[in-house]
Amino acid sequence: MTKDQLLTRLLTRRRAMLAGTAAVGAAGTAALLAAVTGEEPVRPPAAPAAGPLARRPLKPSAYRLQPLTGYGPPRTVPARPLVRREPFLRISGRGRTMVLTFDDGPDPRYTPAILDTLAEYDVRAMFFVCGEMAADHRELLARMAEEGHVVGNHTWSHPLLTRLSRAQIHSQMERTSDVVEEAYGERPQWFRAPYGAWNRAAFQLGAELGMEPLAWTVDTLDWTTPGTRTIVSRVENGAAPGVVVLSHDAGGDRSQSVRALRDYLPQLLDSGYHVTVPRRQHI
Ligand SMILES: [Zn+2]
Repeated sequence: MTKDQLLTRLLTRRRAMLAGTAAVGAAGTAALLAAVTGEEPVRPPAAPAAGPLARRPLKPSAYRLQPLTGYGPPRTVPARPLVRREPFLRISGRGRTMVLTFDDGPDPRYTPAILDTLAEYDVRAMFFVCGEMAADHRELLARMAEEGHVVGNHTWSHPLLTRLSRAQIHSQMERTSDVVEEAYGERPQWFRAPYGAWNRAAFQLGAELGMEPLAWTVDTLDWTTPGTRTIVSRVENGAAPGVVVLSHDAGGDRSQSVRALRDYLPQLLDSGYHVTVPRRQHI
């Protein structure tokens, strides 16, 4: 990250935190109506029989060979959601359910270790990837698909959307959804704005591309490298039913984030939390 990017990030974090506070009430209500948790990401009705194999990315040749009116697995096209006015900040569901999200990756230095820990405890998480990172590390998206994780769209190059034209925002989103579809096997159903800086165009274009906006409830602020124990305590202090936790698996030295997960994940599970991924339910 350049110094300018770091400055932008610091400034916009502050703004996003202020904006996030104002939006808590309304978004919390919306979350109760529109999102539930489940064991597996929900599949659009067009692909009822899709099993683990269907999640594997097909080679380009496989697409070409697929008959037009054929019997092969249909390509998944997420249903078009409503245009929201604020992102979801939490996820409603039965019982003590929490969602872990990892942003800005994938990064081969940290993402595999996070995937290893999640696999060790048989837990599914969300990865909001940047297209430019995903394009360089497609094998990590394939692994996420294999292991049942949900991949969301976090734009191509992590810009501040509020400074972009509508066409630029669309390009940032669409290119990323395209590379996710190629590497992960499905287009993303969730979108998260960089720095939590949302605007109307982001909500509209996200919905057009079949994505729901998801923010977070608890920010570990792991990108400030506050120390592994601080990250762990932020997660544990913030733990509650429906909480969405924000961490990062890229964008800098994320070894603290990797170590923290090894500590807080078993503790959350021991405390009776069901750590899972959201699924979309249209109302
Ligand atoms: Zn980010």
